[in-house]
Amino acid sequence: MYQILYKTRRYPLRDIPPTDTEPITQCEASMRVTGIKQDIIDLLLKMGEESHPREFAALLVEENGIICEVNLIPGTISGNTNATLLMDMIPLGSQYAGSAHSHPNGIIRPSHADISFFGRTGRCHLIIGYPYTKECFRCFTSNGTEQQIEVVS
Ligand SMILES: [Zn+2]
Repeated sequence: MYQILYKTRRYPLRDIPPTDTEPITQCEASMRVTGIKQDIIDLLLKMGEESHPREFAALLVEENGIICEVNLIPGTISGNTNATLLMDMIPLGSQYAGSAHSHPNGIIRPSHADISFFGRTGRCHLIIGYPYTKECFRCFTSNGTEQQIEVVS
């Protein structure tokens, strides 16, 4: 699953340094997330509302840097298990852009447990919080830093 690609840069011909390659993982190359579709935000907020007071957890799929699909992790809505524990069972190396889950307590901030699994499931992590209105979501990087995400129609 770990494929190395080489990113080449354009230099003036005489200037090509001998070490002009920088290994990047394919995962990184294909997963720059810059935006999310409005439909997806609406869907996630609705999922949060419907599963309340339980958490739900889902995985996000991107296309051309825009999150355009949600894959629900089975069992998260019907079960009582903490969403984070379910996310923890996702195999390493899964090709997802990121994750989304809800915080029924309304605190839209990743917990320590959240941050520990963020790194396994892509780079863009949405937390949806009670009361699940339009502004009740935030996006975080894998280390838990809040990041801006553009909502596109
Ligand atoms: Zn959480």
